[in-house]
Amino acid sequence: MSQIKLHVSKGDEVLVLSGKDVGRRGVILGIFPDKSRAIVEGIHMIKRHMRPNQMGEGGIVEKEGTIHISNLKLICPKCHQPTRTKSRVDERDVGNRKKKFRERVCKKCGEIAERN
Ligand SMILES: [Zn+2]
Repeated sequence: MSQIKLHVSKGDEVLVLSGKDVGRRGVILGIFPDKSRAIVEGIHMIKRHMRPNQMGEGGIVEKEGTIHISNLKLICPKCHQPTRTKSRVDERDVGNRKKKFRERVCKKCGEIAERN
């Protein structure tokens, strides 16, 4: 399991809080917990010079660069507002035994944003 607790995770929709893409929204495509950085779809595009290969001519390709996760704010999948979440642990019966779930609860609407 993950050792570092992050406020966002892969697949989350987030709002960008700073940089040239401030105010834009995107979905997290990948996350690097050790660096506290993430790749967000369509955000922080950087130009890369590609060498020509057998498939094409190469040239300049735009690709998402990483962004520090402190610049990202989770958008609640329920109320679609940029929000903070609080974590809570919920215990439920699964079959004949109890199982613990970690939930992230939206502070705006009170709905569960994620359960795992
Ligand atoms: Zn919400």
